[in-house]
Order: sequence, then structure tokens, then C-alpha cells
Amino acid sequence: MYDFHVHSVYSNDTHPFATFINICDAAIEKGLKGICFTDHIDIDYPGIEDIFDLKDYCSELNCLIKIYDKRIEIYKGIELGLQPHLKQENKSYSSNYDIDFVLGSVHVVGKKELYKGIFLEGKTEHEGILDYLDDLRLSINAFDDFDSLGHIDVVRRYLNNGENSFIYSIYKDYIADILECIINKNIGIEINTSGKRYGLRSFHPYPEILSLYKDLGGEIVTLGSDAHKPQDLGYAFDEALELLKSLNFKYYCIFKRRKPVFIKID
Ligand SMILES: [Zn+2]
Ligand SMILES: [Zn+2]
Repeated sequence: MYDFHVHSVYSNDTHPFATFINICDAAIEKGLKGICFTDHIDIDYPGIEDIFDLKDYCSELNCLIKIYDKRIEIYKGIELGLQPHLKQENKSYSSNYDIDFVLGSVHVVGKKELYKGIFLEGKTEHEGILDYLDDLRLSINAFDDFDSLGHIDVVRRYLNNGENSFIYSIYKDYIADILECIINKNIGIEINTSGKRYGLRSFHPYPEILSLYKDLGGEIVTLGSDAHKPQDLGYAFDEALELLKSLNFKYYCIFKRRKPVFIKID
């Protein structure tokens, strides 16, 4: 299996043990066929921006690819923080380097962090969720040079009253608009298994959202643990594949040089 959402010490919020070497060794131990590093590029993040020199990152990863040749496949990716005003800035990262995969994710709503529910200040949960979905839609309309949409319902993790406030049927039409938009642009959707690791009742997204993506014609699903430390690599992937099978997906996807490669689900 391939884990296409992995953070190393290049990301601000990652465990100090998450060096490239420790991650690759742990991935081999866990029997993963390949991993894609997707460190954060979060421009204009409130407080501290999460950015790094992509050229250095890629050349370090190129060395790693040589070191681990035949033991594990290693891919070069980034998790690009989407915000409606970041078109040019994000484009300068997505288009200029030799990378395999760009995961697009929203971590900031109305210039406020999702983390710790800060974006909810002065709003009801319903208003906060609508603002999140609206920023997601506006961000994708402004910038679409990414391959898969990360943890689409991550807002569930940051609600004061827990994920029960995120009732699928209430937000279905907003989500359908976003899914139609990414399907038209040949952008995939991610199953991010960290949802369960953080104690939610399902992965990101809810199975209903994956099912809606399929019903609307979407076929590109990437699989990521969002590991920030080596032991979380490949978390609950067997269960994620079973879920995809139960929703009649025959394949999941990895990306090589920004092109999808379909992996059959046995
Ligand atoms: Zn993320
Ligand atoms: Zn991540």
C-alpha cells in the first residue's frame, strides 16, 4: 500500500523523530510499498507561516530515493494550504518544481486558524461550518493546480460541540458543489485516516461524502495517514480499503509527476 500524506520535520507541527530516514525505515517495517512526503506549504498562515525551500527539499528527497532504491518507493509532494487570495503564491510552488503530488488543504478560514476552533470566534458552529465550506469553494475556484483535495470535512475536528454539529444532510448541497467543481477539474479526493486517530467516528471524509463523490462521477481517491510521527504511517489502511470496496471503488490512486496512477484494490 501507498501512504500519500506524510509529514517530516520540514513541517512546523511535526514530531522531532520524523526525519526522512526514520520515516522511511518505519514505512518499510510496516510493509508499505511507497510513501509520499507532503510537507506543509502554508503561506499567510496566521502567526507563523509554514514554508520551506522546495528546491532543498526536492534535492534531499532525490538523495533519499537513491538510498532507498528497491526497498521502498518514495515520492515528492507538498500539502499546499488553500486560501481564496493565494492564487499566485501557491502557483509559484505548484508549478516550478519537480514534484509528484500536490495535496490541497484548507487549514485557515477567513484568515483564522481552524486549529483549536479559533475560526469560530464570534460565530455559531453552523456559521463557522458554512464559512469553512465557502472558503473551500472560493479557494478551489481561485486556484486548481493541485491533485487531490485533503481532508475535505476536517472542520469536524474543530467544533466546540464535536463532530455531531456537522450534519451531512444539512451541508450536502454545499459539499456537492465543491465535489462537482473538483471532478470537473480532474482533481481527486483524499481519504485521510487521521480522523479516527483523533477520535472521530470515521475517517475524513464521512463515507457519505465519498459515496457522493462517486455518484457524481469522481474516480480519483488518494489515501493518506497524515502521519506527523513515524508510528502513525499507514494508520488503518486496511479499513480504508475495505470502505472503498464497500462503496464500489475498484481503485485508489497515487501520483507520479502529477499524473494519477490507478492501483487496483484486491
Ligand atoms: Zn492538513
Ligand atoms: Zn497533513
